[in-house]
Amino acid sequence: MNILLSSITLVALSLLSVSAPLPAQSRKAPDLTLNTVVIDPGHGGKDAGTTSADKKTFEKTLTLKISRLFAARIREAYPEMKVLMTRDKDVFIPLNTRAKIASDADAKLFISIHINASARSKDINGFAAYILGPSNQGKYDSYEVNMDVCKRENSVIYLEDDYSTTYKDYDDSPESQIFLQLMQNAFREQSLAFAEAVSSHMENGPFKKNWGVMQGNFAVLRRASMPAVLLEFGFMTNPADLARLRSEERIAELVDNLFAAFVEYKSSYDKSVTLESAAGHGTPAPVSQPAVSDGTPVLYGTQILASAREMASSDKYFKGIETLAVKVGNLYKYIAMPSEDKAQAKEGYATVKKFFPDAFFVKVENGQVSRENGK
Ligand SMILES: [Zn+2]
Repeated sequence: MNILLSSITLVALSLLSVSAPLPAQSRKAPDLTLNTVVIDPGHGGKDAGTTSADKKTFEKTLTLKISRLFAARIREAYPEMKVLMTRDKDVFIPLNTRAKIASDADAKLFISIHINASARSKDINGFAAYILGPSNQGKYDSYEVNMDVCKRENSVIYLEDDYSTTYKDYDDSPESQIFLQLMQNAFREQSLAFAEAVSSHMENGPFKKNWGVMQGNFAVLRRASMPAVLLEFGFMTNPADLARLRSEERIAELVDNLFAAFVEYKSSYDKSVTLESAAGHGTPAPVSQPAVSDGTPVLYGTQILASAREMASSDKYFKGIETLAVKVGNLYKYIAMPSEDKAQAKEGYATVKKFFPDAFFVKVENGQVSRENGK
């Protein structure tokens, strides 16, 4: 009886295993392209942001205006794309909520729009792009300017009712700066690529000075779990910049250049994920580009960190998870739970995600790390 039962079970099981896999065409490949973007008009409601000396122009109004025009350009050019705004009217939105809107939408890019101000001098002017990082590593000798921007843009947290509990990990202490130096966000490279694209297009106007890409400990960026930049379009405290910000033509010029940077970034982003997912689905490499193998096996794993700093696998940051360091250019990419077995590495990915929510699945081949779908 037992024998009979188990053989029936075996037959049933083998039938099941034959019929279980879904036909290839019904498994829809996930869309890894830049299909969702969140535009974040800085400030709003009780938080006006910076205000012109004559009290006639508010940062919150300009950021909304620029964001709406920018969103309209993207929607027009890419009707299939999801373009969200953290606010589309004059309301107060906590910094946390802004990042959460982007995470909930599974956005591939978060763009926070702001206008600068300087308490030091009316002469300071121009455009600056920021990514998350320690404030004292700007390309220019602008440490003090940087700290001003961070303080001002973060000060909104004190307008939130429960800021002391919500932002208890945020501070400007030296320890926090060191922490930022270490914990460079897993999306640092992509954030930098977009920031650099915007900065390079801003050379075409409307601002006279371009500060390039700088780093700062911005609370809104710190909470974003995707490539994220904060853009400061001109200084409200500089009369020439203020005149530009009040001119419809100059604003149109600004949006043109911002949109051109977006198009450039999206096209190279989409190309890279399409190539990666094609490689991951077993498509043969083009004959003109034979794959070069250095004899090391192909590994899969979960990238949890990219950092210029070499860290021991015993580093506390890795929380005891087995981690492999792969040096690519001048960055170390830290790959958790690496395995030659893709299925096993995917199980590892599910685990690692619980500890590092912004980690992503990768393939390591010939010293290169490429992103792959981990589902
Ligand atoms: Zn601002």
